[in-house]
Amino acid sequence: MKNKISSTIEDYLGVIYILERDKEAIRGVRLAELLGVSTPTVTNTLQRMVRDGLLEMNPQTGICLTPAGLEQAMTVMRRHMLAEWMLNRMVSWSNLHKEAHTMEHAISNEVEANLIQSLNGPETCPHGNPLPGHESVVKDWVALTEIPVGAQVTIRRVHELAEEGRDVLSFLEANGIAPGIQARLVDNLPFNQTVTLDVAGKSVTLGFALARYVYGEIVL
Ligand SMILES: [Zn+2]
Ligand SMILES: [Zn+2]
Repeated sequence: MKNKISSTIEDYLGVIYILERDKEAIRGVRLAELLGVSTPTVTNTLQRMVRDGLLEMNPQTGICLTPAGLEQAMTVMRRHMLAEWMLNRMVSWSNLHKEAHTMEHAISNEVEANLIQSLNGPETCPHGNPLPGHESVVKDWVALTEIPVGAQVTIRRVHELAEEGRDVLSFLEANGIAPGIQARLVDNLPFNQTVTLDVAGKSVTLGFALARYVYGEIVL
């Protein structure tokens, strides 16, 4: 019988799934940064995952999930997002992601099915990221770097890869930026690499590095 996949491997699967879905390059350095481990550790773990049939390493296409790896990764991400909703009333919005990371690995098939039912089948996580299979929900939301100056937006999503930075979520929360919030794009300064939002009368400036991971729906 196949051993249960460890929490570490599940965390790798989740991050690789997101990078692959969004067609970002899957590099050891990037994984090390996102997972908070050293590059040699990443290399070792990736080799184990290839050995276990979860990943393929192809000289042309690089690292990609095998069908078995993809299935596991989707399950991990779905459970992570359901855990975020489960914790929604218990911890602050900026702590949901971190707390869910510890809980997601302990969710069984039965608990998962019951969570989906009791949460009325959510299509996104509390940060606005799509549950696997619900990507079409987010397709019309635009990154703040691409929104025209002067546009009124409803903030809809803070990308999974930005969720990894706790300081990022605390900063957004402290400045009132979360899904459902109204804002106006005041300026976009490429020479300065910043966008500025008016959020309930308060001016909030984000660097492009973060603004490209925050999405809004243009209202007018
Ligand atoms: Zn999360
Ligand atoms: Zn989330």
